[in-house]
Amino acid sequence: MVIVIIMRGRTFKHSKKRDVILALLRSTKEHPTAGWVYSRLKESIPGISLGTVYRNITVLRRQGLVMPVTVVNGEEHFDALAEPHPHIVCLRCGAVSDISPENAAALESCVASSGIGALGIDFKRTLFYGRCPRCAPESPVTPEPQTAPAGG
Ligand SMILES: [Zn+2]
Ligand SMILES: [Zn+2]
Repeated sequence: MVIVIIMRGRTFKHSKKRDVILALLRSTKEHPTAGWVYSRLKESIPGISLGTVYRNITVLRRQGLVMPVTVVNGEEHFDALAEPHPHIVCLRCGAVSDISPENAAALESCVASSGIGALGIDFKRTLFYGRCPRCAPESPVTPEPQTAPAGG
């Protein structure tokens, strides 16, 4: 069986549900939940269930292709960018976003100069909580085109 999914103008051709799920996770920076993945795929893949999505994400996690980021409102958010990087969770809308590369680099150098590395850390996960650019009134708001429907 070959499944073709057209998402935002891009076409993915895959023979396995897991490949489709991975492609979908890689296509977004929204750090989706399994429910988000399921809602995107249920019409294109007959017979897919939320359980199928969970099982495939679990396999992708074991393969190191998908990382859990955090749990917001009881739902786990995932990232297909397996390289560890810091995130910010919006306390208002629940959005999970990547910290900008400049801020992430500044953070890395902070950690490197702190002596924490001497503790023998194998893995780290950095999470900040606050407000995303859309919810922070004091940050300059970039107008978004009204034509595109919101991703979630
Ligand atoms: Zn927000
Ligand atoms: Zn991320």
